[in-house]
Amino acid sequence: MVAEAAVYDDGREPTTMISDADLEHLRRAVELAAEGLEAGDEPFGSVLVSGDGTVLAEDRNRTADGDQTRHPEFELARWSATNMTPEERAVATVYTSGEHCPMCSAAHGWVGLGRIVYASSGEQLSTWRAEMGSPASPVRNLPIREVVPGLVVDGPVPDLANRVRELQRRHHNASTS
Ligand code: ZN
Repeated sequence: MVAEAAVYDDGREPTTMISDADLEHLRRAVELAAEGLEAGDEPFGSVLVSGDGTVLAEDRNRTADGDQTRHPEFELARWSATNMTPEERAVATVYTSGEHCPMCSAAHGWVGLGRIVYASSGEQLSTWRAEMGSPASPVRNLPIREVVPGLVVDGPVPDLANRVRELQRRHHNASTS
């Protein structure tokens, strides 16, 4: 059952719709982002789901001890390379609280994972960070499909994007107080 159409901030037509099952996995990704924040990490979370809808793995940001490459999307890409066949990876979906950064998009593309659904876009994150006065990312923000052409990508989802924005605001306040 289709719950909500994806809304794109770059004006392109949605390729697919966000289903109730998609929303459930996306909510879990945002919950993992909140868990990351509670643990002193940045609020990002991701869930890897097989072609038949089974949750295979999930992770959250783990950059607090200084390794800025420990993004959940990167960990899931590497997990999939170790634990899944190429055929299984191609039909799997990654749900994530925030759109993949270029490093994670590249890892996703290199291991041949399938669709990505995100709650909030990289463009939204950049805008929020600028509004809050957070330092700019050292890595340029690029849409996933500029890094991995042809990949099916859906998002953002407005309600969940608002929740992610709130988590980012709390993270900013905690890191500046
Ligand atoms: Zn990343």
